[in-house]
Amino acid sequence: MDSGSNWRDGITRRIDQLKDTLGEKDYKKYKLDLLRCVAERIAEFSPECGQCRIFQQDISTLTQDVGNTIQTADKVRRKAHARTIDRIVDHLQKQHKLVTEGYYLGMWMGIGLALGLPTGIPLGNISLGLPIGLCIGVAIGTSLDAKAKKEGRVICPGEKAISSLQGTKLMILIGLAVLLLAGLVAFMLLR
Ligand SMILES: [Zn+2]
Repeated sequence: MDSGSNWRDGITRRIDQLKDTLGEKDYKKYKLDLLRCVAERIAEFSPECGQCRIFQQDISTLTQDVGNTIQTADKVRRKAHARTIDRIVDHLQKQHKLVTEGYYLGMWMGIGLALGLPTGIPLGNISLGLPIGLCIGVAIGTSLDAKAKKEGRVICPGEKAISSLQGTKLMILIGLAVLLLAGLVAFMLLR
């Protein structure tokens, strides 16, 4: 066994112990399932990636400290914990072309809505374009997600690991779509 898989097994064992000692609520809140998946990926890439080797240190520290972080209920430490996981997920996505569960669905729903709007114009009804765009977006996104899963590129299958940054982007997109729709309805009512 090389040192990479030794490290991974140590982390996995530690997280499994935490699962037994922590309540399910804290286990979820501190994204320990995600951390477990992320550690496996990092162990896979660390022989050829210096940044992943640095993240190995961070993951070791996180799993050692998480018990204390939960006990002290320190907000600053909790945020730092979440931020570190986000940073590692971000690196795995950008550098190693992995994706989170539902990544393409979120992205293509946004693209579908954005492209759907102008599509409605030649149909004579702008608001018709939005649901058409959304449906096409969902279809493309779902199939790309399925493809990524098949290729083993999903960091943590079954785990909706939307990072806070992605979450914010998605909320802005949905907010914009709702605003557009409300604007259209108002426009048509006033006409
Ligand atoms: Zn890396």
